[in-house]
Amino acid sequence: MSAAPLLRQVFGFDSFRPGQEEIVNAVASGRDVLAIMPTGGGKSLCYQLPALMRDGLTVVISPLIALMRDQVRALTEAGVAAAALTSGNSDEENSEVLRAMAARELRLLYMAPERLASGATVPMLRRAGVQAIAVDEAHCVSQWGHDFRPDYLRVGELRRVLSVPLAAFTATADAETRDEIVQRLFDGAQPQTFLRGFDRPNIHLAFQPKDGPRRQILDFAAARRGQSGIIYCGTRAKTETLAAALNQSGLAATAYHGGMEADARREVEARFQREDGLIVVATVAFGMGIDKPDIRWVAHADLPKSIEAYYQEIGRGGRDGAPAETLTLYGPDDIRLRRGQIDESLAPPERKAADHARLNALLGLAEATGCRRIALLRYFGEKAVAPCGNCDICDDPPECFDATEAAQKVLSAILRTGQTYGSGHIIDVLTGTMTERVQARGHDHLPTFGVGRDLSKPQWQAVIRQMLGLDLIRPDSERHGGLAITLAAHPVLRGEERITLRRDTMARARPAVVVRS
Ligand code: ADP
Ligand code: ZN
Repeated sequence: MSAAPLLRQVFGFDSFRPGQEEIVNAVASGRDVLAIMPTGGGKSLCYQLPALMRDGLTVVISPLIALMRDQVRALTEAGVAAAALTSGNSDEENSEVLRAMAARELRLLYMAPERLASGATVPMLRRAGVQAIAVDEAHCVSQWGHDFRPDYLRVGELRRVLSVPLAAFTATADAETRDEIVQRLFDGAQPQTFLRGFDRPNIHLAFQPKDGPRRQILDFAAARRGQSGIIYCGTRAKTETLAAALNQSGLAATAYHGGMEADARREVEARFQREDGLIVVATVAFGMGIDKPDIRWVAHADLPKSIEAYYQEIGRGGRDGAPAETLTLYGPDDIRLRRGQIDESLAPPERKAADHARLNALLGLAEATGCRRIALLRYFGEKAVAPCGNCDICDDPPECFDATEAAQKVLSAILRTGQTYGSGHIIDVLTGTMTERVQARGHDHLPTFGVGRDLSKPQWQAVIRQMLGLDLIRPDSERHGGLAITLAAHPVLRGEERITLRRDTMARARPAVVVRS
């Protein structure tokens, strides 16, 4: 099977993280590979996915039993035949692994390098028909690093004996370590090497809350007349209506989505490649395989699925290194839609929880109070040293205010109503709005009833949205999406941690109409 469907079906991800796709393709095509990625960048997928794309067994050399256990558990839960041979296993467990291996049932076998010291291991691996080797924490082969593990030297020998491709992964990027890895794991033959920061400094990052979204997108596109751009939309229907609206205002635009005939899609791809200044208004179906270096801008008319999807999509701009601009719109309807999609999916509860967390991370990025690139790189595990100077927040820092008290009110209303209600009901309680439900549950007798009359309902929505982004509260899928508080909220409740929120998102929310009687 090819990479994209496996990514979705086995791992439950919609998009690759930066760098992953190139590495997966190189490993899957049987090349020797050395990949340097930051911790948390998503290395494991880069050998797990290719292992499922080829036949037979892939051996993974990994230094830590706990790490192997976690990975084997996750893979097994996803339905992948994976196992670990470790000293932590019981004898029965190990003999079951050996049996499964001899029967050629396994796709991934994890082991510590120390196991290679036993004379029986290598012949056994050979009999099992090993097709590829993956080496995690490959810098352990380097004598200069403080993680040196002498048995890693046996991995080079294993590669020689089995003569299969080897893919080595590490987060350590210095040149000496890299050279030693090449000498000791690849016998000095240069593997295909991936060492690229994730940052695309020429891409300008910007988000805006939806506020007349059609006009926001038209203005953005009109200001870039004559430049090639992509607008991503959440639905097929919207690509058509938005393309028509752009045409009406005199811009060359065409729709693209998975519901179109293959010929029509190819025609759009060819036109985009050859014409200057065409706008493609598309669903996420547009992208894979587009190789146009001078896409000058990418807009999201709707919130993307995740930070990974966002980064992959904006990453199609500015491949030539010249400046490219982006704009991502988001609104409460997007958030509701995405939450609903996650809750209604057939995924197991852990995956739903992970999807909610990924959505929260994206919302946090959307309403970031500091440099977006710093937040983005942090999410991908890479450290940025200074504000980038090329995002809307660096251009024009938003005014923030101390919202600790407002956050505490929200948290206490959620707690006192039993962590079972959505934002609408919580806001009714805060603003002292007498609804049937408030009355039926007796929530008008709570001490929090009406403590939030100082803010309007839309302002409370803004507070709650930002609290979701900060992951202080989370919709609980066990309780029909009712809001529940997270561990991160405890210090806020105790007054040990202060919360700042953006004032602009509050100001945009219209103030309450005060009716006096
Ligand atoms: P590393 O080994 O590089 O430190 P991992 O392989 O453990 O990192 O991955 C770090 C995290 O990123 C894991 O929680 C993993 O599930 C997640 N992850 C990896 N690839 C993706 C992806 N394409 N989309 C979303 N999450 C991903
Ligand atoms: Zn910045």
